[in-house]
Amino acid sequence: TDITALLLSRIRDVPDYPEPGVMFKDITPLLADPAAFTALTDALAALATDAGATKIVGLEARGFILGAPVAVRAGLGFIPVRKAGKLPGATLSQAYDLEYGSAEIEVHAEDLTAGDRVLVVDDVLATGGTAEASIQLIRRAGAEVAGLAVLMELGFLGGRARLEPALAGAPLEAL
Ligand code: 5GP
Repeated sequence: TDITALLLSRIRDVPDYPEPGVMFKDITPLLADPAAFTALTDALAALATDAGATKIVGLEARGFILGAPVAVRAGLGFIPVRKAGKLPGATLSQAYDLEYGSAEIEVHAEDLTAGDRVLVVDDVLATGGTAEASIQLIRRAGAEVAGLAVLMELGFLGGRARLEPALAGAPLEAL
């Protein structure tokens, strides 16, 4: 579609970043283009409305840049899921495995409650580890997952299949 072509045209392939053999998808040209950034924000906000979301969770760090304007546009609250040690209040934490080692993400416990339907927003779905941990965090907070919406899915990494059990029927939309 038109929006897909516009968004794709504003994503830059950076070879060998952050390490040799990796082709990094750089979204900064898209952010710098107001027409593309607005089209993306509107499309993600429509997904949030269609999913009946009551809150937007953005994943550090590019999920903050994309998720915050979506929350404003859709008239919903924005909740940051951060790397461990960054949030000042009482948190819930979720550890997950990386290729080498592990990582941990956190959310303010009081930001999500029973009755919330949460749309998770991030820029790129790669292996799905980050999204999977965020879904577990949202459920542990007592909230429901309305879906996962990303700008781009790197299909060859198998994130969609990995996330199927965690999503439990909630939609995964990649623009
Ligand atoms: P995953 O946990 O799915 O393996 O990795 C997803 C996380 O890593 C996302 O938060 C995303 O921002 C980041 N990421 C992985 N690969 C890329 C990439 O090629 N481009 C961008 N912009 N982010 C990436």
